[in-house]
Amino acid sequence: MGAIALQGVKKSFGGVAVIPGVDLEIENGEFVVFVGPSGCGKSTLLRLIAGLEDASGGMIRINGKDATALPPARRGLAMVFQSYALYPHMSVYRNIAFPLKMAGVDKAEIDRKVRGAAATLNLTDYLDRRPGQLSGGQRQRVAIGRAIVREPAAFLFDEPLSNLDAALRVSMRLEISELHQKLGATMVYVTHDQVEAMTMADKIVVLNRGAIEQVGSPLELYRSPANLFVAAFIGSPK
Ligand code: ADP
Ligand code: MG
Repeated sequence: MGAIALQGVKKSFGGVAVIPGVDLEIENGEFVVFVGPSGCGKSTLLRLIAGLEDASGGMIRINGKDATALPPARRGLAMVFQSYALYPHMSVYRNIAFPLKMAGVDKAEIDRKVRGAAATLNLTDYLDRRPGQLSGGQRQRVAIGRAIVREPAAFLFDEPLSNLDAALRVSMRLEISELHQKLGATMVYVTHDQVEAMTMADKIVVLNRGAIEQVGSPLELYRSPANLFVAAFIGSPK
């Protein structure tokens, strides 16, 4: 049983079917990338999984359980927002601790988890700083730390690197891939950047107008694109 399973998941906004019906299995520990042009429904699909949008139809299962009607906080997933979603007046420590504090976790356990996440992310020396005193890459790591402490069933990323400059984007890509290796966690990552998809994914989901054109490993998509759309988007010679 996969970590996340979508069956006939649909979403309409004001009568317009943005996601006409998606079937998808995401396995435990997999790094899955949703890729496709702007407006194709990547964020909407991720938000449906997160519970930030209600599905208009279909079923979403998380670790085998029907999560379709659960609110975001009860799905056991963590959405990693862009680093600007940090609280500027709080230290790195308090930013990372925040979701645990909200959940009523006791102080000793918060401390253990925050320090564990900081060690994983090489942030131990920065716990007393405020976000404004950090580099863009460090801020992004704090945003990830805030997700790690919740020990989610899966991490959901929506274009987390799009605000970073090109050089930083490349190094953060590597950091997120390393983090995936370290944690062995399921990760679903949205991007419109083919290079990001090809270099990071175990499995790529190519979306076009709210529908899946192809699902496969980077090599499968490159070698055997299902159609011209995939070939053109991945940049492979079909
Ligand atoms: P992507 O992330 O791939 O760029 P989105 O999922 O953000 O695409 O959007 C897919 C389509 O759904 C777009 O046409 C967008 O305008 C529309 N859409 C997304 N959210 C809403 C909303 N809350 N209300 C109405 N239309 C929306
Ligand atoms: Mg988007």
